[in-house]
Amino acid sequence: MSVRRRLVVANWKLNGDLTLIGKMSAALNGLTDTTAEMVVCPAYPYLGSLSASKVKFSIGAQNMSQYTSGAFTGEVSASMLSAFDVKYVILGHSERRAIFGESNEIIAEKFALAVKNGVHPILCVGETEEQRNNDETEAVIGAQVKAVMDKVGVKAFIDAVIAYEPVWAIGTGKTATAEMAQQVHRFIRQQVASEDQQVADTLPILYGGSVNAGNAKDLFAQADIDGGLVGGASLKVEEFLAIGRSV
Ligand code: PEP
Repeated sequence: MSVRRRLVVANWKLNGDLTLIGKMSAALNGLTDTTAEMVVCPAYPYLGSLSASKVKFSIGAQNMSQYTSGAFTGEVSASMLSAFDVKYVILGHSERRAIFGESNEIIAEKFALAVKNGVHPILCVGETEEQRNNDETEAVIGAQVKAVMDKVGVKAFIDAVIAYEPVWAIGTGKTATAEMAQQVHRFIRQQVASEDQQVADTLPILYGGSVNAGNAKDLFAQADIDGGLVGGASLKVEEFLAIGRSV
């Protein structure tokens, strides 16, 4: 089995300000005792300032447009991200799917554009509580992954990351147990392996959903969990560092 990259990714959502950018940058620039690649995904305006200060951690965006240019007021393209050293982009977060109506097809289009522009997609997938209770978890996640793989091809996942984020665990304080999460991570890896074993072996699959300094170690110790996508706890500098050190 190959060694996979480990990542701990901060998703700040519509939170954070220049003060937090400064504190988090100073703390992460000095973080040496983790093997994880630390990634911060703030709101768009802060990407330029992180890029200009040549931070030692990776920069990610929370979203991008499915269009390349033109009359699309308010949109930000993949090439604009790439010009500001944005290495990752979160795509298909459940909040984008539920609140902004992003379909699997739109997410697949964004994924293709990100890859084309050298920005690594972090593709989020996950089931709602109702879907889990109806035993539909694998069907839902399988369809979310397949929609993108069918459009871009499995080889496009070579530089990508998948984040399993059960919708019922996001921002709720309810975390999937390490065993529950591992089961879904294994399912996702097997699905990718059915197309390409090598891609599956090297694909980082992150867990997201109320990850904190208390539960991270247990989650990250699972065979198919390669780090975390962290919302609320990533707004607290010391806690985010502690999550990073749990890898
Ligand atoms: C997220 O929004 O990606 C997330 C995982 O949030 P939280 O950690 O707050 O549940």
